[in-house]
Amino acid sequence: NRQILLKERPQGMPTEDTFEYRDIPVDAPGEGQVVVKTMYLSVDPYMRGRMSNLKSYVEPFEVNNVISGGIVGEVVESKSDRFSVGDKITGMLGWQLYNTVDARLVRKVDEAIAPLSAYLGVLGLTGLTAYFGLLDIGKPQEGETVVVSGAAGAVGMVVGQIAKIRGARVVGIAGSDRKIEVLKDLGFDEAVNYKTEDSLYKALKQACPNGVDVYFDNVGGPVSDKVMNLLNDFARVPICGAISAYNITSPDQDMGQRIQPKLIKSRALMKGFIVSDYSKFFKEASVDLAKWLSEGKLKYEETIVEGFENVPQAFLGLFKGENIGKQIVKVNS
Ligand code: NDP
Repeated sequence: NRQILLKERPQGMPTEDTFEYRDIPVDAPGEGQVVVKTMYLSVDPYMRGRMSNLKSYVEPFEVNNVISGGIVGEVVESKSDRFSVGDKITGMLGWQLYNTVDARLVRKVDEAIAPLSAYLGVLGLTGLTAYFGLLDIGKPQEGETVVVSGAAGAVGMVVGQIAKIRGARVVGIAGSDRKIEVLKDLGFDEAVNYKTEDSLYKALKQACPNGVDVYFDNVGGPVSDKVMNLLNDFARVPICGAISAYNITSPDQDMGQRIQPKLIKSRALMKGFIVSDYSKFFKEASVDLAKWLSEGKLKYEETIVEGFENVPQAFLGLFKGENIGKQIVKVNS
């Protein structure tokens, strides 16, 4: 069994040296357990937080221990009446080729509804994050303008499309011309490349002639500073992520302009959230997401890297904008 361990806690941007591979025997399953062979593995920006030793909403990873995250796999041995060999499942499991786990910790997925990798993205926590952040906090109304940053990423892409389903005008912000094209193809009304515009503020102002009613923030930092200048009265700002700040090394580091005056002026509501806050409602939301998918109202993109040996590189690529849509690793073993 190959595993990926956290070798050391990164200072600033993680590198290949943050990770270490180890080979150990596969654990034999006990009563009620299954052995799951990893097929697809999710790499996510929030994992950067777990690599630090800071108190947060999830426990930090331990140094010299296996890293864990979302996995889709196949049951290859079962000592549980919940699963048979050949069943496909998903769960939060170790970054290893095989996981021997209590069957209650994983749930079955259905290939007839969507390809297996979708359960790590649009039909997994990614889709749910977009769904609750946008609908519960953002509350977009027909004709309103919704801006989303990190728009060509996994969460951002779903946010924009749900906002369209709700009849809003949608403007995405992303970091390459290719991403801008993809967003337009997905039905975003406007998309702005924050890396090439001379004045991001002016470009956004042009893209949002009626101001911004909902700003779904995935990135924080300078990009968000610009959007905040355009908030309409009583705008809503779901704070989903702040990837631009995940690798800063000191709380004193300058994070750009302060937003408080803009919130006062607009009387906007800004609220952070964590997708697990909504776990009671996951079932209903998953039904909506699967329905929109089957009706063709919701599309998704994935960037799939092949090979377990490329997991670190796929993770590091998130901070360089290498992914379009959900970044996934396909494990061929
Ligand atoms: P993405 O697929 O969006 O991947 C990250 C993207 O962020 C990159 O492709 C890159 O795109 C962009 N990016 C990287 N660095 C910067 C930077 N310095 N400034 C601006 N953009 C940057 O990841 P996810 O969709 O999985 O996650 C999106 C955000 O949502 C993350 O911040 C994540 O932590 C958060 N999140 C929060 C959850 C919650 O419960 N609150 C749950 C899940 C995710 P580009 O080329 O456009 O720069």
